[in-house]
Amino acid sequence: MSQPQMRRAIESGVPDNRQFLHPLLIKNYGNWKYHDRPRPGVLHHVSHSGDEVWTVRAGTQRQMDVYTIRKLCDIADRFAESHVRFTIRSNIEFMVSSFAKVSPLIQELEASGFPVGGTGNSVSMIAHTQGWLHCDIPGTDASGVVKALMDDLYDEFRREEMPNRVHMSTSCCEINCGGQADIAIIVQHTKPPKINHDLVANVCERPAVVARCPVAAIRPAMVNGKPSLEIDEKKCMCCGACYPPCPPMQINDPEYSKLAIWVGGKNSNARAKPTFMKMVAAGLPNNPPRWPEVSEVVKRILHAYKNDARAWERMSDWIERIGWPRFFEKTELPFTKYLIDDWRGARANLNASTHIRF
Ligand code: SF4
Ligand code: SF4
Repeated sequence: MSQPQMRRAIESGVPDNRQFLHPLLIKNYGNWKYHDRPRPGVLHHVSHSGDEVWTVRAGTQRQMDVYTIRKLCDIADRFAESHVRFTIRSNIEFMVSSFAKVSPLIQELEASGFPVGGTGNSVSMIAHTQGWLHCDIPGTDASGVVKALMDDLYDEFRREEMPNRVHMSTSCCEINCGGQADIAIIVQHTKPPKINHDLVANVCERPAVVARCPVAAIRPAMVNGKPSLEIDEKKCMCCGACYPPCPPMQINDPEYSKLAIWVGGKNSNARAKPTFMKMVAAGLPNNPPRWPEVSEVVKRILHAYKNDARAWERMSDWIERIGWPRFFEKTELPFTKYLIDDWRGARANLNASTHIRF
């Protein structure tokens, strides 16, 4: 009798990236001698073997239709060497093995509407998640904010004129996956959720929703004879965490879901430790399709940083040196007691969380 065969595991994780790498990158993997940047948007790597690779980095509109992807692949076939890769900020990079191919590639990219830049001390592409496409809780269209803002910051992407690199992020909800950034645009709900009591019993697992609230503001309740939930609105800090497990607790609102700007975060260990962001502007209207109010504040912060920071100071280093009062003076943003939150009185606010107790 034949032995039963073990079922092979089906893995659907990230594929081995080596199958997609440019042959010169595989050949010289871990053997690079040095790299430099001949011009903004172009990286030049030289190997101990003598091989050289030029990488041309371009920006895209982020959410791409199939025609745009075909156009980029076509450019890779005709002007590069049929290999592309995406950076963590979703820039697209084309690798070529000879300097002579760099200029025609740049010309073709720019003629097709893809700016070349995003390297060194530039404003690189804005990191964001693809909220509307794959997530159930976005409070805004992050990709739209990114597209509108990068249109306004087009020249800062193409040049390397900032004191240090500027990483920006946009998060389409308040409990976001945006991460730390020099400038971050984050949704800010300003009213507690409105509960559709007719649906709660059918859709929500009530204990899970109660447990989800970080400030213990949700209680089970009977409403109109049906099991539902109620919110202690004095406790609720409008975080939106109850909405994903219970969509009848609708918190998105065209008027009261706003945008806030946070600054000074970074993940890098270079020169100074990683830092958390602090909120410096709140209550900006969520105003599609161009979000002009957000753009105005971001540009104000960027220009103050560009004019005032010393060489190689990241946003957080600059603010640390000049202090928060001077930051608000130089950016001409109004300061209110709701911003920053690293003053002594913040202890009371932090105490509002069940997770942090003093
Ligand atoms: S930022 Fe929020 S809404 Fe956007 S994808 Fe992440 S969790 Fe979803
Ligand atoms: S919005 Fe946040 S704080 Fe308010 S009830 Fe829901 S989970 Fe709790």
